[in-house]
This record gives sequence, C-alpha cells and structure tokens, in this order.
Amino acid sequence: MFEGLSDKLSGILDKLTRRGALTEEDVNAALREVRRALIEADVALEVVRSFTDKVRARAVGAEVVKSVTPGQMVVKIVHDTLVDTLGSEADPINLEAVPPVAILMVGLQGSGKTTSTAKIAKRLTDRERKKVLLASLDTRRPAAMEQLAVLGKQVGVEVLPIVAGQSAVQIARRAMESARLGGFDVVMLDTAGRTTLDEALMAEVAEVKALTNPHEVLLVADALTGQDAVNTARAFDGRLGVTGIVLTRVDGDGRGGAALSMRAVTGKPIKLVGVGEKMDALDEFHPARIANRILGMGDIVSLVEKAAQTIDQEKALRIADKMRKGKFDLDDMREQLSQVEKLGGMGGLVGMIPGIAKMKDQIASANMDGKVIGRQIAIINSMTPGERRNPDVLKASRKKRIAAGSGAKVEEVNRLLKQHRQMADMMKMMGQGGKRGPMAGLANMFGM
Ligand code: GDP
Repeated sequence: MFEGLSDKLSGILDKLTRRGALTEEDVNAALREVRRALIEADVALEVVRSFTDKVRARAVGAEVVKSVTPGQMVVKIVHDTLVDTLGSEADPINLEAVPPVAILMVGLQGSGKTTSTAKIAKRLTDRERKKVLLASLDTRRPAAMEQLAVLGKQVGVEVLPIVAGQSAVQIARRAMESARLGGFDVVMLDTAGRTTLDEALMAEVAEVKALTNPHEVLLVADALTGQDAVNTARAFDGRLGVTGIVLTRVDGDGRGGAALSMRAVTGKPIKLVGVGEKMDALDEFHPARIANRILGMGDIVSLVEKAAQTIDQEKALRIADKMRKGKFDLDDMREQLSQVEKLGGMGGLVGMIPGIAKMKDQIASANMDGKVIGRQIAIINSMTPGERRNPDVLKASRKKRIAAGSGAKVEEVNRLLKQHRQMADMMKMMGQGGKRGPMAGLANMFGM
C-alpha cells in the first residue's frame, strides 16, 4: 500500500541526508517535493498542509545535535510528524466494561465489514480467551447473514441463530439477552451496509446503538477507496459517534492516502487493519511502525534519537567551556537563557553544569521568572548577529530599534545589556582561576 509514497519520500530525504550542510532553501525545496508526494498518494489536502507546516516549524526551531547531519535531523522530524499524523500510539479494542460488552460494526456494503467482524471475533477468542457471540443485523440481505454464519463456524465462534422476519433492533435485543444468559464476554453486532450512505441506514444503526449501548463502535472502511473512505468515516462519526476505525485492504495497491488522512481528519484512531482475505489477516495499527515502513529510514531515526539524548549535556558542557575560556557574548547568553527557560528554572540547568550540582537548592530559590526570560530572549533575537557578538556597538539608535523590534522598552534593553556585562565579567574572572569559585560566579550572574 505504501510503496509508491515510500519510494518518493525516501528518495527526497535521501538527497537531503547526503548533503553536508543545509540551507533553508534546501529544506523548503524538499518540503515542496514531500507535499507533492503526499498529494499524489491521495492524502487529504488539509492533512498535507498541516503536515508540511508542522515539519517546517519544527525544522526551523530544531537544533542539530552533534554527530548527526542536518539532513538526518530533517528525516527524524518528518518521521515524528508522520507518527503524530497517524495517531502516535497503537489503540487496541477496549473491552473494559461489564460483560457482555457490545461491539457495533458499521460501514458501507463491500467494505469488508462481515469479514472484519469474523477476524476480530477470532482474535478475541484466540488471543484474549473471550467468549464471543456474533450476530448479523442485515435483515435485507439473507446472504449476508449466511456469510457471517459460515465465517463464524470457520473461526469457531458462536453465531446467533437466524430467526426470519425480525427487525435489526429485535435481533440486537435477542443477541444481548442470549449473551447475558449464555455468559458471553463480547457480542459483536454486524449491522447492515448500503452501497451509499443513506439516512434510513443511519437511523436503523442509531436505534441499535441506543438499545445496546456498545463499548466500541467500529467503522470498517476500504483503504482502496482513498478519500471516499475518509469521507465515509466522517459521515458515520458525525451521525453515530464511532470509537475507532478498521481499515481494510491495506494489502492492496492503494496509494495510502486513506491511512494517512483518517486519523487527522476524523480524530478517531485506526485500531486495526485488514491485510488479506484470510481470517488471521488482521493487524494492529502501530503508527511508529507504519512511519518506518513509509520512510524506510528507521536507522537514521534511532541514530538521531540516541544523539538527541545527549544534546542538553553537550550544551551545558559548551557553556562550561566558555566559562573556562572567559568568552561570553549575547549568543551565549541567549543559549543559556533558553536552557533555563526550557528547564523551567535554574535548578535543572545548574544540575547539568559539572561541579555545581551542590548549589542547586540555593540557586533554584533565585526563581527566575519564565516571562522575564522570554522577553530577554526576544530582545536578543532582535539584534543582528554582529551586535550579539559585540554588544559595544549598541548605541541609542540601535537600542531603540531593538526595543521596537522586540516590543520592549529601551530600559529593558539596557537592563539586559547590564546583566550580560556582569555575566561576562564573571565569566572572565572564573576563566582566570575564579578566585571566588564557580559557585559564587554563577550565583552572581543571576543577581543573587
Ligand atoms: P461487507 O459487505 O462489508 O460485509 O464486506 P465483506 O466482508 O463481505 O468483504 C467483501 C470482500 O472483501 C470479501 O471478498 C473479502 O474477502 C474481502 N476483504 C475483506 N477485507 C479484506 C482485506 O483486508 N484484504 C483483502 N485483500 N480483501 C478483503
């Protein structure tokens, strides 16, 4: 199902990872190709848009971890965004309710509803040792009732006997009663399908739902129908409130758009996927595994994950190194401030700087205000790189420009510069052997 998309995406990302350095234009060009590949794979436009927006925002904000290339970093970002789009975690069928637990199966005719009902019944029986009762509510198509009876026998699951002339609601009531009397754990109700959505069908299913109070309402949708599957899911969910989706024919050569759009468009998880006609051709839907299959770059993703675990330590060490060398410009200050901001206070940062951990409690009580830190970072962001490296050039007119650019007052800019000077002096002193010791230095930096 995902081969076409997979080939394209891995081609695009492969080009990126082979580059030494990446410009913003490289990333944008790659994203344009990603966008085209997703559209060709029949992914819903709104999903394509939010996907590429998310990747761009994350790529711009990301810091490249030492020991991976920027291209590898982008692969990791695309991967993570793909996992988010697919729904992050696997979401299995939930049976946590007082038995008999009702599962209502809904969907269009031909979507694979009856087949999926039998597959799920088999899985619950074999793997979870549940006692399952199957019932077909398709009163208009005797063949459908027969089909469920045949499949039930095949997988060794009991099927409610057919009684001619009963309505869907009557059958549902009988199924629930039989399940209660017979000590069943689960009742699976296979509702009637139509070839198109119609109100009569919806009303009938709604009535069955009201009667049986199902714990799961599973919509079965055919992945080969692409966007139609997504629209069907949206319509069923709007009318009935579904709890999850079973996507069938994922073994077919569809373009993958339905699988990729389903979660983002409906907000409902894909719980299971049908991958063939056999009764055991049913898989759990694991977003991370699917993302790996689509990108085919699992190695890079785990490499970046491993490297990222060390990113904070790397930064702390760099700051410690600057201290030793006695150099400290506004770029360093910004880096330090954002570390502090990210860690939610001084405590965390201090713990990372070797040799200062003991001071943690005292420094934590200095309690730098997150808002102040945010404003200070904004002020530094409004400076040019040259100004950040050499703040001495900052005279009145430049300060005014920076204040206007960051929405701050000139006094705030002055206060920040003063704080930077104190920090830089402190660094210098510590670099020269730090007569008062690194602990006193750090405490002074934050005005203690
Ligand atoms: P219903 O009308 O929705 O109940 O659809 P059925 O359960 O009768 O399925 C219609 C056809 O699709 C049958 O021939 C099934 O064997 C086939 N089918 C169902 N699920 C899958 C699947 O995941 N993969 C493949 N390849 N075929 C499937």
